[in-house]
Parts: sequence; structure tokens; C-alpha cells
Amino acid sequence: MQNKLKELQTTALASISQTDSIKSLEELRIKYLGKKGELTAALSGLGNLSSTERPLIGKIGNEVKSAITAALDKRLAALENAELQKKLSADVIDITLPGRRIPAGRTHILTTVENEVRRIFSELGYTIAEGPEIEDDFHNFEALNMPENHPARDMQDSFYLDDGRLLRTHTSPVQVRVLEKGVLPVKVIVPGRVYRCDADVTHSPVFHQVEGLVVGEDVTFGDLKGTLEFFIKKMFGAERRVRFRNSFFPFTEPSAEVDVECFVCGGEGCPLCKSTGWIEILGSGSVDPAVFEAVRIDPEKYTGFAFGLGIERIAMLKYGVKDIRLFYASDLRFLRQF
Ligand SMILES: [Zn+2]
Repeated sequence: MQNKLKELQTTALASISQTDSIKSLEELRIKYLGKKGELTAALSGLGNLSSTERPLIGKIGNEVKSAITAALDKRLAALENAELQKKLSADVIDITLPGRRIPAGRTHILTTVENEVRRIFSELGYTIAEGPEIEDDFHNFEALNMPENHPARDMQDSFYLDDGRLLRTHTSPVQVRVLEKGVLPVKVIVPGRVYRCDADVTHSPVFHQVEGLVVGEDVTFGDLKGTLEFFIKKMFGAERRVRFRNSFFPFTEPSAEVDVECFVCGGEGCPLCKSTGWIEILGSGSVDPAVFEAVRIDPEKYTGFAFGLGIERIAMLKYGVKDIRLFYASDLRFLRQF
């Protein structure tokens, strides 16, 4: 029995030292030291031994158990350490490498200009209104005093959808949508994308407008002039001269185009202003009574004014950009200049 135990110890220690995984090491622990393991089996005849032999064999049994346990623990520690080293060398990080620079985004110049327009009008107490980019004929044309066959419709080459609706050609339909709600007075600006079938250095099929609409009981053309002068001087500088020029729009009467003193020559005359000294900056006018009638507002009781300006046009003039397409080309060399 003594030999059997020694033999067990030798075999166990040999297989423990050859084990190269924590899992199979655990299997060996069960195989030799488990309740149904080989050591228990080897000591099963202990009860049949004589009282002189029993303590001796018992003692050897304990020594075998201690030896196997110690070997298992030692091997486990070695295997765990090996695993850790393997992991460390796989995840090696060279902290001397330079960091990867994440390019910081910035606000697009058109957004900057639009935000500036929003800020100036919010100083005057305007709120923001929005409307759909896909419009129906009524809101885009008819309610704005451009009935079927109206020559003004020819002025705008539109993108039509199969169902007869179209991509809005201006932000003015939002005027109609705001007035339809019948909540007066109204004092809103409407920033948004508009679409026209047109493309060259000063025209883009998609561009940005800001519409303004004020309707109330005592709104005058003088209010319009004061508002737009305030806006232009905030936008282009207090020293800039402004002039109002008689014009025509179907949905305003009277109508005025607003010019600002040329940025390049300061009024002397140059190619940008076509030697006039002035640059057209926006269109405006008093709301035509026909528009009020289309949305069932009493034109005898209410008056109002509207204006519209192009964000791209303002950005081009303010920053001397000669080709509108640069705004959409996503060329960082261009965009980083602002
Ligand atoms: Zn000029």
C-alpha cells in the first residue's frame, strides 16, 4: 500500500508538470484529490490495516496529498503568470507614438450667415417659422397672387413632382401657412432651403432664403424701412448707406428692392456694382391685399410687410465669393478660410 501511494504521487507529479492549461490542471486535481479520486481510492483499504500500520500509512497518505496539492498550486501559479505575459505582449502599447489628431469640424459659412440673420431679427422680437420643402401649387403660387398663367410663374423654373406638387421655389409659401393659422399679429422670419431649376456661377438649384413677415393692425411701410435699415446696418456695418428702389413682386404692393452701398468701391462705381455704386440685397413690400383674401384675413383691418433675402447672396457679397458653387463643393481649403 505504501508503494502504491508513492507510485501515485510520482505519476501525479509527472502529469502535473506536463500540463499546459489551467483547465486540464483542474481536471488533474479532481482525478487525484477529488472525493472519488485516486488518492481516496488508494486509501480505501486503510480500515483493514492493523493498528500499528494504520497511522503510518495515514501519515504517508497525508504527505502524498500535500505533495500533490503543492505541485498543483505551483503549476497553477506558473500557468497564470504565463497567460498574463502572453496577454501583455499581445496588447503592447507604444506610448511614445504620436496621438491621432481628430479634425475638428466647424460651422459652414452659410450657417454662420444664417445664424447672424436670425440673431439680428431676434433682437427685434421676431420668432422663427418653418414650413415644408415640398409644396402644393396653392401655397407656392396661387395664394401669393400668382394664379395659373400668371407671368410671374415663368420667372421661376420649378422642380415638379409626379403628383403635381413641387419643391418650393421660395420661402414665401410659409407666409401663407403662418397666416392660415389665423393667429394675429404675426412677426416671424422663415429661414429655409428653396429650389429652382437654375445653375451657374450665381445660381444654384438649391439655395437658402430668409423670409420675413409682419402682420398687425398698424403695420406701415415705414416700419418695413426702419426694420430693413436696422438689419442691413447690423449685417454690413453702421456706416453703409441703404436705398429703397421701386420694384414689383406679385405678393407685395407697393414693392421695393433694397440696395446697399457697394462693398468694393464704397459707391464710386466698380465691376461688382456694374458702376452704379449700389448692390441689390433684398426684395420687400407691403403684403398685397389679395394675399390676405386668399387666407381669409380682412385687408381693411390688417396690414403687413414681407421681405426676402438670399443667404448665399449675402455671404458672397460680404466675403467676396465669386462662385456660388464653392459653398457646396465641400472643399476644405475654401471652407477653412472663414
Ligand atoms: Zn462698386
